[in-house]
Amino acid sequence: MRNHDDTPRLFHFKRRLTPYRSAIRISLIYLMYGVVWILTTDQLLEFMFGDASYYHFLQTIKGWIYVLITAILLYVLVVSTLDLYEEAKKKTEVANLDLQKQLEKTRISEQRFELAVKGSFDSIWEYDGVTKKYFMSRTLLRNLGYSEEEAKLTVLEDWLKFIVPQDREGFLQMTETFIAHPTETLEMTYRVLRADGTVAWIRTHGTSRIEDGKLVKVAGSHTDITLSKNYEEELTKLAYYHSLTGLLNWHGFAKKIQDRIHTQPHTPFTLLYLDIDDFKNINDFHGYSVGDRMLVEIANDLVHLVEAPEAVANLGGDGFGFLIETVDPTKLTNRIASIYASLRKLRSIDGEWLDVSACIGVAQYPKDDQTFDDLMQSADEAMYEAKSKGKNTYVFFSDALHDSRLQSIALTNELRKAVDNDELYMMYQPIYGLDDRRLASMEALVRWKPTGRDHVPPDTFIPLAETTGLIGKIELWVFESVFKQVIAWRSVRHQSVPIAINLSSRGIADDEFVRKIIGLLKKYEIKKGEIEIEITETGLIENYEAALHNLRILRFNGVKILLDDFGKGYSSLTYLVSLPIDLLKIDRGFTSRIHSSNEIDAVIATIVSLAHSINLEVIAEGIEYENQLDYLAKLKTDYGQGYHLHKPALPEIVEKLLK
Ligand code: C2E
Ligand code: MG
Ligand code: MG
Repeated sequence: MRNHDDTPRLFHFKRRLTPYRSAIRISLIYLMYGVVWILTTDQLLEFMFGDASYYHFLQTIKGWIYVLITAILLYVLVVSTLDLYEEAKKKTEVANLDLQKQLEKTRISEQRFELAVKGSFDSIWEYDGVTKKYFMSRTLLRNLGYSEEEAKLTVLEDWLKFIVPQDREGFLQMTETFIAHPTETLEMTYRVLRADGTVAWIRTHGTSRIEDGKLVKVAGSHTDITLSKNYEEELTKLAYYHSLTGLLNWHGFAKKIQDRIHTQPHTPFTLLYLDIDDFKNINDFHGYSVGDRMLVEIANDLVHLVEAPEAVANLGGDGFGFLIETVDPTKLTNRIASIYASLRKLRSIDGEWLDVSACIGVAQYPKDDQTFDDLMQSADEAMYEAKSKGKNTYVFFSDALHDSRLQSIALTNELRKAVDNDELYMMYQPIYGLDDRRLASMEALVRWKPTGRDHVPPDTFIPLAETTGLIGKIELWVFESVFKQVIAWRSVRHQSVPIAINLSSRGIADDEFVRKIIGLLKKYEIKKGEIEIEITETGLIENYEAALHNLRILRFNGVKILLDDFGKGYSSLTYLVSLPIDLLKIDRGFTSRIHSSNEIDAVIATIVSLAHSINLEVIAEGIEYENQLDYLAKLKTDYGQGYHLHKPALPEIVEKLLK
């Protein structure tokens, strides 16, 4: 656009231009010029030229000059005025063009908005803070199944009617607070009812216009987020629930307990950790699908034993967790009893009858621990303690238990290095014939003296080695060192004195281990009758089939089998008949009670005669007194072992006996 202020001009008008004013202006300027001309020019001529004829001639010239000057003046005035008009016209045209563009833009954006409102599943809403009017486009309600008429809202209360009753209070509270103290944006999530009675999740978003702290207007959208909400719930399910049993999983249980501690930090509760006994066997013998179905069945039963806010969880595999809202010992014992009752009910899956038992560890908040992880660890420790006591038991966590577990962990670490550090050695305890009192055999007993510490008794480290799997390495060492001893003693002894070696239940059930022993027997050329193996009843029952098979192999390789500690465990007489054994060792527990009652004496007499009747020789262990020895001899017990006869001794001492 041209800048007129910078352009020099003959008559500089004020820039405001109207046709009426411009005409007046031109006329006035013309009038002024005419008046000045007429008033001044005649006098001037008369004064300069007094001659009349010349004067008339000059009058004519003056008339022509007047016409010429006025013509020029008019031309300039009209041109500059028209110029201004031209300029104004151009300006108007440009402004007009701008306006056109603006209008087009508005039209497009209006169309776009209309299309967006129509096409979107959302509804646009607006609330007027002054008139209290509420507008909402109908899309959302139409999509939720309502009629055109029902979807017509005019006040906020109209919208409230669609919100599910449980969420109404919350919605009202939020809107009221917002209207009283408006903020720039508004965000809410709540549920509304569809026309068919089902529920949809809505997210409301709004932006407000606030003047002097008062809400003038707020507008935004309502979006149906049911799908994403369902998806979210599905994800939560995957994250917090066990896919097989549908119970809370580890994460879900952790969250539950953590929330519980957070919301009620001063109210104690109990956490149970339950582990099904021998679940591995169920999987191994009956297959994983039976195992899975059994877990589902157990889970379905356990669920009925708790009611919110209590909870039961499947912590992976055959482990279950319970949140119990009591720490009262009597109530708790009853609850645990009902869990056992539920587990032990007869279960048949695919025609298989399954007997289910479990061990439970109990930890309490806040007495034992204050966090989920610590509580779980304590319950786990208590559960393992229960397992070590046998099946179907429960144990309360205690500091003593914790200490003893810490000790056993430390001991295990030491035991791991015992073989390599040469800390093991063997003792031998002589076994005598009770009729002739001659040395009949010996039992090899392992000893462990950790470097820089006192002896650790085998009753402590053998079970530890069994549970931690270290037993294999230890027993292999025992077998090899006894075999070496057998060879060393071949030259000194003048009669065959077999050596009995104790073999753990793990070892006897382990084909690979038994193969190694057979290999060693061959390597050291051990002869038939030089070695016996002592096994215990409990070990046999645990892995009956595998153990039976391996016992036969060992026997076939010239090793006599001895059943140790008879009378300590189940003492099933049926086993005596069916097992491939050669000797029976009566447990120390029986020997020590000889003459304590007639019944005990009778039982011992029966065992001895029964063993004899099925061609088993009998050893009595733990003989500490002469009268025990006499009674056993009277019963025709074949052999005797005990402190009264000889204590376990180092090879050098035993060697003298052999000579
Ligand atoms: P066990 O096989 O029953 O061994 C007999 C235990 O009774 C030995 O204890 C022995 O010292 C003890 N004993 C013998 N006579 C008497 C007596 O008159 N009175 C009393 N009170 N005790 C007597 P030890 O050596 O402490 O062994 C304990 C257990 O450790 C053994 O019981 C056995 O089960 C296990 N064990 C020992 N050595 C080995 C081994 O090399 N391998 C395996 N797997 N277990 C072993
Ligand atoms: Mg033994
Ligand atoms: Mg024994």
